Amino acid sequence: MSQPSEPSDFRPTPKDKPMPLEQARARIVDAITPIRAYERVPLQAALHRVLAETVVSDIDVPGADNSSMDGYGYAAADLAKEGGALKIVGESLAGHPYVDALGAGECVRIMTGAVVPAGVDTVVMQENTHAEGDRLVVEQRPKPGSNIRAAGEDIAAGATVLTAGCYLRPADIAVLASVGVSEVCVVRRPRVAFFSTGDELRPIDGPIKPGEIYDSNRHGLAALLNELGMEGIDLGVVGDSPDALRGAFEKAAVYDAVVTSGGVSVGAADFVLDVLGERGSVDFWRVAIKPGKPLAFGTLGSARFFGLPGNPVSTAVTFIQLVRPALVRMAGGHPAVPVRLDLPTLADLRKSPGRENFLRARLVTTDGGRLAVDPIDHQGSGVMRSMSTADCFIVLPAAQNDVPAGEIVTVEPFAQTIWGHPVD
Ligand code: AMP
Ligand code: MG
Repeated sequence: MSQPSEPSDFRPTPKDKPMPLEQARARIVDAITPIRAYERVPLQAALHRVLAETVVSDIDVPGADNSSMDGYGYAAADLAKEGGALKIVGESLAGHPYVDALGAGECVRIMTGAVVPAGVDTVVMQENTHAEGDRLVVEQRPKPGSNIRAAGEDIAAGATVLTAGCYLRPADIAVLASVGVSEVCVVRRPRVAFFSTGDELRPIDGPIKPGEIYDSNRHGLAALLNELGMEGIDLGVVGDSPDALRGAFEKAAVYDAVVTSGGVSVGAADFVLDVLGERGSVDFWRVAIKPGKPLAFGTLGSARFFGLPGNPVSTAVTFIQLVRPALVRMAGGHPAVPVRLDLPTLADLRKSPGRENFLRARLVTTDGGRLAVDPIDHQGSGVMRSMSTADCFIVLPAAQNDVPAGEIVTVEPFAQTIWGHPVD
């Protein structure tokens, strides 16, 4: 849990210098205390949770030497002696082993996963043999020792299976099941309150009038929190007034983190910073990135506070770049180092020096079969379709100017590029 905050008399001014992104991210992540509360959950409920214990295997996986092929098992030296033909004396199936030891000149039919009987050191795949009555003729001899999976080759008894702090993905669930773990101890999910601010915002299930907009950010934030495995607490829409904000802040102050959208700059209707300064404390409020310059980081009650800008792309980009690593740490995990690629851009990029830019783009394969990056045409911070149609950021350093097509740029794929694009 974070320390309760002391009210401060912070006053933002437009002259406050934006902090470089790397510095802001390090400062935020360093300020986070990982949650130290745990719960035991059945294995299937542990997906996307952070493991709170190091799991050591009690058993070998596989538990015995077994065949990796459907075929015949024999002793290689024996086959050499017998001139390539052996007597088939039985069979070993997965779950139904051949229990006797093999004698001289003998072989067994053996199926994938079946335990290798005593006396067998090699399996030949069925396709490389033929049977003549109860005689097996081996047409192509595999190397001695072939097609046998050794006991413990995946996981040996006593080996560490997964380490505390590991974020559990589907393969991890399967690995835990393979060593017979039916329940695991995981970190309690961070409880993250979120709300939107803005007098122009309307709920998505009713009509809107000119000048009003649907409150899309709150739903986008809910989805980002959900995807991250956080427990989101939706505090709705809050109007642009200090009193309305005070009420929302009071409700939000009891959670692990608070994420808000809008009202965080120094406009006439922007009160988030004032109220955060009054009810909690502001650490910093400007980051040198585009989109997304205004961003309030501070403390409110037991919560770490992230006041994100209201322009939808800015909300998403600042969440991904700054809030996500913080919440991963809070959840007991380790923020990933983003994968970055150096790729040619297919179009010119406009950039003025000052802030690090996160342009939305798509990974493409050129006619020559090379990977390249294609920026989305409309890069406005209010154009959320630029995020929705993108699968990566082009990251341009603060000092960069315009970039002509063909130049190599740094590309950060969105964390999980799993699905291809529909044809468009
Ligand atoms: P603000 O950060 O409050 O100055 O808002 C910047 C821009 O983002 C304005 O055009 C707002 O109307 C828009 N905006 C603010 N909050 C939301 C929201 N929850 N959903 C969609 N757009 C928003
Ligand atoms: Mg606003």
